[in-house]
Amino acid sequence: MRTPLIAGNWKMNGSTALIDAFGDAFAAAKLPDGVDVVVIPPFPYLEAARNAFANTPLQLGAQTLNPQHSGAHTGEVSGRMLKEFDVAYVLVGHSERRQLYRESDEEVFDRLIAALEVGMIPILCVGESLEERDAGNTMEVVLRQVGYVMARLEPVQRYQVVVAYEPVWAIGTGRTATPEQAQDVMAGIRSYQASFDKTLAEQLKLLYGGSMNANNAAELLAQPDIDGGLVGGASLKTDDFYAICQSA
Ligand code: PEP
Repeated sequence: MRTPLIAGNWKMNGSTALIDAFGDAFAAAKLPDGVDVVVIPPFPYLEAARNAFANTPLQLGAQTLNPQHSGAHTGEVSGRMLKEFDVAYVLVGHSERRQLYRESDEEVFDRLIAALEVGMIPILCVGESLEERDAGNTMEVVLRQVGYVMARLEPVQRYQVVVAYEPVWAIGTGRTATPEQAQDVMAGIRSYQASFDKTLAEQLKLLYGGSMNANNAAELLAQPDIDGGLVGGASLKTDDFYAICQSA
């Protein structure tokens, strides 16, 4: 049985006022039993979020981390620092990081290892561009991204990773993958994992991301291989995010 997980990636958005609004809304909210809900604000808001979410079921995530734990890396933040703020999850390999900051599979792997080393759960984001989908290369691209990481992990470490399938063409575009398109890729990722370990394939948590909102979440989350969502734009509104959590 895989526990559903809904994670809200605020990207470079939000404010202390929004943190407080989420704290208030989720202190009063009743979530379905057994759903994990994570809010992933920008770094400067982590301490405010830790305080504001103290009486809520919300957990904290971070949007990236440096592969090193400390040192001469001006402007960077390490996993060890994030742990001090009770950050439980961290995104690695988000398509915006891969595209805008040229993060390679190798760097994604190094960040993921740094997360595991400090006991955070990495959410490994993978997904194809529109050109790659149109060329019929979706599965090849996704399995390359997943496989690069999984093949280099110790068997036990593979159980500590969450994978988010986020088609690049669906992120922030309002164009969602159909439940069937998302399910097909999820099933492909899961059966690929079975080539390592059948138990891992059953336990691996797979999230869908890409213009998930309060209207389409239920149908996506009803797919057999979709265990949750990574939500961008719709995670910035308390009502919308709450409605998505209710669908899980
Ligand atoms: C994301 O940033 O991971 C994401 C899925 O964004 P959006 O929901 O806005 O498409």
